[in-house]
Amino acid sequence: MGKPKFIVANFKMNKTNREAEEFFKNLVSGIKTVNSEVAICPTFLCLENALSVCHKYGIKVGAQNCYFEDFGAFTGEVSAFMLSSIGVDYVILGHSERRNYFFETDDIINKKIKSVLKNNLKPIICIGETSSERKNGQEKEKIKAQIDFALKGILPRKFAEITIAYEPIWAIGTGQTVDPQKAEEIFSFIKNYLICTYGEDSVRNIRLLYGGSLNENNAKELLNIPNVDGGLIGGASLNLDKFMSILKGLESEGEEAK
Ligand code: PEP
Repeated sequence: MGKPKFIVANFKMNKTNREAEEFFKNLVSGIKTVNSEVAICPTFLCLENALSVCHKYGIKVGAQNCYFEDFGAFTGEVSAFMLSSIGVDYVILGHSERRNYFFETDDIINKKIKSVLKNNLKPIICIGETSSERKNGQEKEKIKAQIDFALKGILPRKFAEITIAYEPIWAIGTGQTVDPQKAEEIFSFIKNYLICTYGEDSVRNIRLLYGGSLNENNAKELLNIPNVDGGLIGGASLNLDKFMSILKGLESEGEEAK
């Protein structure tokens, strides 16, 4: 049986409290049969509900963002310190929607990663190239730069807490996915770059996720690519049947989806 995959649901700005609660309750009753580590990242409003329903079933809970100061005059923000105080496990950082719509720079993302680690939370750091960078063959340069910015000033002993999600921007929410052969090349590149730059011992436990239009039809193939430890799922995580079908499809080789 392969290593369990790490599957992260990113609800983005979807689901009211009531809709999310119904999802969590149905999820926990279906999840007993799955082998993957699962983390649900709903909106801030739904986090406490997610924690009270999901945690006792071993389902982790993540936020989709946070601020890097612990508290203060930062209207509208929620800190990593506050997320930690209610028991959240993960925080997604550097998502392309945050970078593009909310102008988050690599420097801000690096500060957020440091704050998350300082507050004993685990960052899920999103990286990935635009379609024009892909067309111009610049994807590896972009990936290297985003990794280096993200990890700048972070002690290697903290690396084990880190997950990196490679999400080509042109694949997010578009129905397009990276070609599996190309994905294999990119993930092997990311792994080797981490090893060569930061040392094998330091990066051994960094998990690598694929994200971008994963669904119940393509997840098994894409998530079984070498060096892919799991997936970050947006649109398809909103529908419980699709999400469960992804999870069940990832069960051990040879075993039929239940
Ligand atoms: C995401 O938001 O991180 C994502 C991968 O979205 P989608 O699965 O909808 O492409």
